[in-house]
Formats: sequence, C-alpha cells, structure tokens
Amino acid sequence: MPLPKRLSLACLPTPIARLDRITRLAGGPEIWIKRDDYTGIEMSGNKVRKLEFAVQEALDTGCDTLITAGGIQSNHARATAAAAAKLGLGCILVLNSEPDPAHQGNYLLDEWLNAEVRLIRPEDTPFRMKFMEDVRDELAAKGKKGYILPVGASNGIGSMGYVNAVQEICEQEASLGFKFDAIVCAIGSGGTFAGLELGKAKYGHPGEVHGVLVTDDAATYRPIIHDILEESMDVLGESYEIPADALHLVDGYVGPGYARSYPEELETIRTVAHAEGVMLDPVYSGKAMHGLLSEIRKGTYAKAKRVLFVHTGGLFGVFHFLGGQDARFGKVK
Ligand SMILES: *Cc1c(COP(=O)(O)O)cnc(C)c1O
Repeated sequence: MPLPKRLSLACLPTPIARLDRITRLAGGPEIWIKRDDYTGIEMSGNKVRKLEFAVQEALDTGCDTLITAGGIQSNHARATAAAAAKLGLGCILVLNSEPDPAHQGNYLLDEWLNAEVRLIRPEDTPFRMKFMEDVRDELAAKGKKGYILPVGASNGIGSMGYVNAVQEICEQEASLGFKFDAIVCAIGSGGTFAGLELGKAKYGHPGEVHGVLVTDDAATYRPIIHDILEESMDVLGESYEIPADALHLVDGYVGPGYARSYPEELETIRTVAHAEGVMLDPVYSGKAMHGLLSEIRKGTYAKAKRVLFVHTGGLFGVFHFLGGQDARFGKVK
C-alpha cells in the first residue's frame, strides 16, 4: 500500500555521509550518519518528517489550529509552531515547566513563531492529553477546529515519517551499492524508532534497528513502542509480525535522567564535534551516539560492516542546556 498523503515540509532527502575519523577512533564498523538534523532550520530534526503526515491529516480534516505538548525545550513543539506559521494555522502549545522559564532555545523560538504557550506544572505532565483536549473544546466553542498532535507526534500517522525515511535510505543505499547492517537512533517518545522498524518490515531492509533509550528503560518502552507499531500498521493498512521482545532497545545511556547530561556523554559530543565538525545535542543524539560508540567498544557490532546513525537534530537545545554553564565539558552540573 502507498503511504498516506503528505505535505512537503522537510528538505529531503537528507544526506548520508561516512564519519571516517570517528570510525577510526571507535575501532569497529564503518560509522555513517544520516543528517536528519538537516531537514530544515526552523522546522529541523526528526519531528518534521512526522509533521509532513500529521499536518496533512489536520488540513484534510478541516482543522485550523495545531495543538501539541511537550517539555519547555521541546524540539517537536518548536517545529510544530514553525509548521503552523508557514501554513497560516494557529498553534497552541501545552508545555510543562518550572514557573517562569528562561526565554531561551526552543521556547524563545516558539514565542517568535507566535505560538500561544500554555504553561503547566511539571507534576501535571501525566495529564497533558487532558489539557490538550480542553484546548480543543475551548476552540470548538469559538467555532474553530483544533488538531491534537500527541507528544513528539509519536502516533500512527506521525511515525509514517520514518517509514518514509526507510524508503529514502533504501534509495540512497542503491546508489551507494551496499545495505547498512544496523540503523541507530535515539528513542524519546518512540515514533522515530517505531517508524524505522515498520519501514524495515515494509521495504524488507536487512539491517537491525537499534534504539538508544534517553529517558527511561527498555521494560518501560517495550509496550509503548508496541502500541505505536499497532497504530502505525492500522494507518498503513498492512500487518507485520514485529514481536515486542524482538525490538532492539538499548539500555544504559540515560544517565541521571531525561535532559540531564553526564560527563562521558558530553565528552562524546565534544569528540564528534572536533573530529567531524558535527554537533550533536545533549538530550537525544549525544546520548544515542555515546551509546553507539560504547556498544562498539563492548563488541555488540562485531559482525557489522557499516552502521547508520540517524542524527535527529536538537541543536537549539544546546544553547539552553549547555549555554551559560561551564562550557568545558565534563563540568556540567
Ligand atoms: C524528539 C527527538 C528525538 C526522539 O524521537 P522520538 O520519535 O520522540 O523517539 C530524538 N532527537 C531529537 C533531537 C528529538 O527532538
């Protein structure tokens, strides 16, 4: 079945390049990178691929306002705000935050993109969907129609963005003349990983998909990813056998918690920056790359010839999370 209709919001295809010096330093398989941080600037990173499908659905159902939620530095919220501005739609963001957040990074951009921000307290994070539904009701009372995107756009329609990315990777591999043995990404809300898994099944990609957890452990994420996969197969109208216990979820690189860095991770970010001129972010791609390099050292990739690391973006987070601190890595609180 063809994928659902999509808007064209991202700069695609994103380039794939070999990281020679990091490959040499790691001493394992060739490490290649897919620059999904190059999908755009305002609309940058992995969320734009998901928005291409989700916002198309919003338009097709006659919605005039995008509603989504996330942390105060959400890359997804910022990308949604930019998509809304580009398309002339309204945008309301429900962001969980400590009171009086600094006007920095993604949050600053949300405001400049004219999104209406509703701040909720950190302890109300579990109720984000309820807050979004209230916003939708409020809009309906004014004769408007809101479209709710879940956190990270990690639902059936959103994950189509990464099913589509696998098709793109297959085309790029055809001109490179080989197939990657593994595709590695960070897992936040799970839609990127789920889309890659489903794309692998749909297009028969031989490589394994490895997701490095950056928020919580594999036991917590297995059912979450399973549910996104079920929903995605419904959207696609196709069914594949992808058992939850066969998913390659990589534990051990969360560190002290979501959006909290640790010295070894920051050292990896710095190493990749000065060896390759590639900036990773401290919340997602830094931990994912740290996971990949550590697993190579442990021998996990002993049989692989080439692995593809998906750089999912997040550069604006650097300015928030690392800016103003002692920028000599390893000294971050
Ligand atoms: C959201 C995000 C991720 C995680 O992707 P999910 O689909 O939510 O798992 C990874 N990297 C960056 C930069 C992100 O913003």
